[in-house]
Amino acid sequence: MGDFLNSISNAYTGYYNYLISEILYPTWNNYFYWLIALSLIVWLLEVIFPWRKQQAAFRKDFWLDGFYMFFNFFLFSLIGFNAISTIGVDLFNSFLASLGINNLVAVNLAALPKWTQLLIMFVVADFIQWNIHRLLHKNKYLWEFHKVHHSVIEMGFAAHLRFHWMETVLYKTLQYIPLAMLGFSIQDFFIIHIIAVAIGHLNHANIKITYGPLKYVLNNPVMHLWHHAHHLPKNSYGVNFGLSLSIWDYLFKTAYIPNENEYEPLGFDGVENFPNTFVKQEVYPFRK
Ligand SMILES: [Zn+2]
Ligand SMILES: [Zn+2]
Repeated sequence: MGDFLNSISNAYTGYYNYLISEILYPTWNNYFYWLIALSLIVWLLEVIFPWRKQQAAFRKDFWLDGFYMFFNFFLFSLIGFNAISTIGVDLFNSFLASLGINNLVAVNLAALPKWTQLLIMFVVADFIQWNIHRLLHKNKYLWEFHKVHHSVIEMGFAAHLRFHWMETVLYKTLQYIPLAMLGFSIQDFFIIHIIAVAIGHLNHANIKITYGPLKYVLNNPVMHLWHHAHHLPKNSYGVNFGLSLSIWDYLFKTAYIPNENEYEPLGFDGVENFPNTFVKQEVYPFRK
């Protein structure tokens, strides 16, 4: 028990110290300033080249989504996720050890060049996330949590990180084992995380880019706007589930871009009555 309390308090102080040093001592491997820099760049692009010309630079819920960015990226870990996940990993490893398994790695990729490892990690992680995202739409309980992300009515870059903290728990937990089997941990590769944030920001941005023929590989703002569209094709629980890559939607026939209407209404049935503050949105799925 003492060990557990120790590891909880170490995880808290560890993360707190990490966050403070991120803010006070900027380096090139710094999530805090990269998130701010990417946000400013994409926001500037929205202001200079807006796709929806009538949308304000400070669109509806701009500040709410700005808060979500820092909550989901930093504060949630500080409040508890870091401590809980450290314990989860410890418990899981002692469970494996009790079964005589000391190493989860099933395929050893460590001998490959670094960039090949990065690419494999990026593609595998994205495919797992695509499946988790589909699950969030298909399962009616999970959908109540995912509605927070779909409550966006006016789309802009910061909407990317408007999601319920349960999504972080679900994504990180379901990704852990398959990635660990390849010898990866999602925290391993700073650059992959930053690339995913950049693509995700662009997917939600008020900019019209489709990357030409690369649209079959890369997700983009036109494709993702249809993911958020109120209108769905008949008998479907969702379309365009891709996070960074669009290729899974084309391969598994869930891609749907009937037109490029920038004012396509967004949301879901009843979105006009969905809570509009952070606290109410965090509480909403539990009351459902
Ligand atoms: Zn979704
Ligand atoms: Zn989205």
